[in-house]
Amino acid sequence: MGCPHNCVFCNQDTITAKTAPGSADTVREIIEERLPALKGRGLDTVEIAFFGGSFTGIPLDWQKKYLAVAKEYKDNNRVDKIHISTRPDYINIPVLENLKKFGVDIIELGAQSFDDEVLSLSERGHDASDIETASSLITSYGFSLGIQLMIGLPGDTKEKAITSAKKTVLLKPDIARLYPTVVFEGTRLAEMKKEGSYCPLNENQAVEITKEMYKILDAAGINIIRVGLKSTDLVNPENDLCGNYHPAFRQLVEGAIAREKMEELIWAHGKKEKSFCFTCNKKSFSGMIGHKGCNRDYFEKKYPSLTFMYTADEMLPDRTYKLKSLLSGK
Ligand code: SF4
Repeated sequence: MGCPHNCVFCNQDTITAKTAPGSADTVREIIEERLPALKGRGLDTVEIAFFGGSFTGIPLDWQKKYLAVAKEYKDNNRVDKIHISTRPDYINIPVLENLKKFGVDIIELGAQSFDDEVLSLSERGHDASDIETASSLITSYGFSLGIQLMIGLPGDTKEKAITSAKKTVLLKPDIARLYPTVVFEGTRLAEMKKEGSYCPLNENQAVEITKEMYKILDAAGINIIRVGLKSTDLVNPENDLCGNYHPAFRQLVEGAIAREKMEELIWAHGKKEKSFCFTCNKKSFSGMIGHKGCNRDYFEKKYPSLTFMYTADEMLPDRTYKLKSLLSGK
């Protein structure tokens, strides 16, 4: 339902123009359609999530209608949690009281950046202090907090992005999402790019900056539930104007982090060893090898006199990369 804002990167006008607002019955239909598909998948938690636009920006009556349906499913133990996303300046005490009444568990804030210049150039209509105030209110009411950050908005730099990640850590969110900016047709950002006033990041730059932010959030124990946009209908080669969308962006970032750690291990042992066996758990294995084997190729090319092998060790925690020396057998 129409958000009154016009953030430069957002094509919600185009989306909402094509889609009539759903009724409470539509919410119920969607839940009934999706719930059976989730059975037997071994999921720890099933959530009803109201995403897209700004949930607490829609009229309170509508919020109540939608939430009443969700609460019914939660009360009947058919779902575990209710999850919403909204803007920092749409959080206040009456809003939180209402969300509490309907059993909402998780509130995600589209923060995007903690730099006031980036927020202003992106026409967000709020500043960094709004994010901090809203986050404190959310956690003081006992909700789980999520923070969404974007990378490469107008005026953004690597330093500003890293500062945003550090400021996010101070707010102690439970979850975070990292989204490199994608330029969609029909947005102000697309016009800015055509005019030459905005230069999007290329893939390597986006990976490099996101990697540093990921490391900061991960080290603070924040669950990074998404890195990069989903390959939904909203993202296809026609509406990604700069061609910098990558469907496996998370794997690119986690692969870059793994490569960095593995290279540190080579340098720490490289003078003594000729053969290296890297190991990590199965879940982290694709990060170790890299997207389409790019890490394997990188090490083979960069260190042609060394031999590399890769094995799994289920005893290791996620994203922990160790080196087993083939010569010493350790
Ligand atoms: S507040 Fe959210 S939905 Fe509204 S224009 Fe900005 S990004 Fe789009």
